[in-house]
Amino acid sequence: MTEQSSPERARALRLEDLLGRDIYDVDEEPHITVDYEKCSKCDAKPCLYLCPAGCYTLSGNRVLFSYEGCLECGTCRAICPMGAVRWSYPKSGRGVFYRFT
Ligand code: SF4
Repeated sequence: MTEQSSPERARALRLEDLLGRDIYDVDEEPHITVDYEKCSKCDAKPCLYLCPAGCYTLSGNRVLFSYEGCLECGTCRAICPMGAVRWSYPKSGRGVFYRFT
């Protein structure tokens, strides 16, 4: 194992550094869509805090979603209390390509 790819080095890097190494082949067709009608009735808005990629942001009282930086973890589908997230993987060969070295 080279020094550059050692687990110790990976642990020393911040999450943002590691994510910045990933490559995205973003499809023009979103693989996740949000029903903003349902979303607007949610008080807790857990997507704002639990999406590891920060794809959900708040503008005033309204949640905004962008799929381009999605890590395909599935968290938003699992935690949305309103069932407002329609989720699928990107088309085959598209989406995030993880790079750990
Ligand atoms: S699948 Fe994961 S990374 Fe993608 S938008 Fe949902 S919570 Fe964020």
